Amino acid sequence: MTPPAISPSRSPLTLPQAVALSLLRDGYTAHRIKRRTGTDTPLLYTLAAQHGIQAPHGTLEGGALHDARGEERCEPCEKVAARQQAREYARHRTTLASLPPGRRRSLTRRRIGAVR
Ligand SMILES: [Zn+2]
Repeated sequence: MTPPAISPSRSPLTLPQAVALSLLRDGYTAHRIKRRTGTDTPLLYTLAAQHGIQAPHGTLEGGALHDARGEERCEPCEKVAARQQAREYARHRTTLASLPPGRRRSLTRRRIGAVR
């Protein structure tokens, strides 16, 4: 049996959302798409997954779309996501290291306390 062409779970698109999806497919970043169309990033990925739109592989947006569809990321998307995670981790470490020692200790202590 063939699935209906328009599945009932698909929500109709507004014009800005349709533009947002075509920009996503063309490789624009989620940040730029939000600035241009006002479409929030989580909604953008949900709509793209519903409407079968794929962002270019090997981009953060491509990886986020694999996640939105609940599938495993392809290799290029996984690499980009890992690189981004490493960058964020490095930025976090730099932030901690730039604090004066007393402040750093109190932050560390608080985090240990929260775990308990
Ligand atoms: Zn991919």
